[in-house]
Amino acid sequence: MPMFEDDDFCVDRPISPPKSPELHRVQLSDGYRSSRSNPQSPNADDGLNRNEAIEVPATRSFISDAQNYMHNLSLSPSMKDRRGSRNSLGTSLPIPSRESRRSMLSWYSAVPPHDGCKACSSMPPAQPTREILASQLQDISSSKVAAVKDMAFVFDIDGVLVHGDRLIPEGQRVLQILNGDNELGIKIPHIFLTNGSGKLEQTRVDQLSKILKSPISIDQFIQSHTPMSALAEYYSTVLVVGGEGYRCREVAYDYGFRNVIIPHDVVAWDPTIAPYRTPTPSERRAAWPQDFSQTNIEAIMVFSDSRDYATDMQIIVDLLRSEHGRLGTVAQDPVAQRIPIYFSQGDLLCPTEHPIPRMSQGAFRIGLEAMYKALTGVDLERVIYGKPELATYKYADEVIAGWLMYLHGEEKLPKNIYMIGDNPASDIVGGNMYGWNTCLVRTGVYQGEGNDRDNPASFGVFKNVLEAVETAIGKELGKDFKLE
Ligand SMILES: [Mg+2]
Repeated sequence: MPMFEDDDFCVDRPISPPKSPELHRVQLSDGYRSSRSNPQSPNADDGLNRNEAIEVPATRSFISDAQNYMHNLSLSPSMKDRRGSRNSLGTSLPIPSRESRRSMLSWYSAVPPHDGCKACSSMPPAQPTREILASQLQDISSSKVAAVKDMAFVFDIDGVLVHGDRLIPEGQRVLQILNGDNELGIKIPHIFLTNGSGKLEQTRVDQLSKILKSPISIDQFIQSHTPMSALAEYYSTVLVVGGEGYRCREVAYDYGFRNVIIPHDVVAWDPTIAPYRTPTPSERRAAWPQDFSQTNIEAIMVFSDSRDYATDMQIIVDLLRSEHGRLGTVAQDPVAQRIPIYFSQGDLLCPTEHPIPRMSQGAFRIGLEAMYKALTGVDLERVIYGKPELATYKYADEVIAGWLMYLHGEEKLPKNIYMIGDNPASDIVGGNMYGWNTCLVRTGVYQGEGNDRDNPASFGVFKNVLEAVETAIGKELGKDFKLE
């Protein structure tokens, strides 16, 4: 049954009233009353009781129903759906090759792991006699050493090892064990895989090393936009969105993009493009405006959470609707002339200091998809990196193999990989789909009873990260393997 008459399409007025309308009380303003009243007959009975509120039935307009405009891949992932990816372009995304990444061995030879890190400089120096003893022990325990080289841990960070800048004490102990505080004095391979974003990898590992009081290398660290560095081979001039101030511009240049534009630059060039935004004097000074009517922006990279939804969405939609990324134009064909858009991760929500989780990049993306579809009538093709997307796990394989090479001189992928995370919808679903053992911990997002119903962890649910690591080590190296 049609809800609206043809000539009244944009008005929320149902032809037949809903059975149980939710009523909103509306008090008419004086101005509204006088305009509707006949000035010649102020007391005429025109059907309006001017001294009382009137009641307006709340209706549900299909034109305002965002569900119609949502991308069919935008729902949060669940093992129940058995959906491998939220990407509308499939999963063959570029990731950095081993050769194109900085060599970890050259990094280590150039910069000792502890150099310049306050946390590491406060740690006791390596003890040669202890290392000799460890190597002797490893010689006589070759089967356990082989098992160590055939396992690896992949840690989510927030909610597992830390809460923001606050240490989860079990996280510190876990890194001591994996860095050699065990019966063989052997380093057990582990990497860090986070959907965090918005800073240089080096900045983040320095902060993390300090909190966890263990040295962490950028070569064992992946944040949501790390694999997107591979895109620098494909695009030169890009719009980078999200993050604090100008940090994401710095990240993009570090990845090798050559002309990195951020929304502040566009607003500084033409303030009318964002009518609800007045840049502060310091933003104006720091912006790099150029003549964007003469610049083709080749791709849009959402690196981190938007700090200004209205401005960022306006500029992104303008670009998506433009002719080949030229601001100020509107393409005749919204598909053929559209530039690509990439998101560094797809989480709908993220935990913060606020008691209720806050909206994250996934929510921002869904808003964009709905707006784009409402304006053009077509689905927005987009690409998402981060957990639980396949590209990020392929990249994690590269990083694990490289780290094993650094630690033990063997470049291979261990058979037994354990993902430890607090979020069933990203850490666990992704690890499960990729065939890793998954461990869900109760120190972050997940607080439910038993295992998660939609995305159950394959190796189990644990009180904290230490319990998960101890259990996994017990399985791989034997229950008698001493963690001291
Ligand atoms: Mg987490």
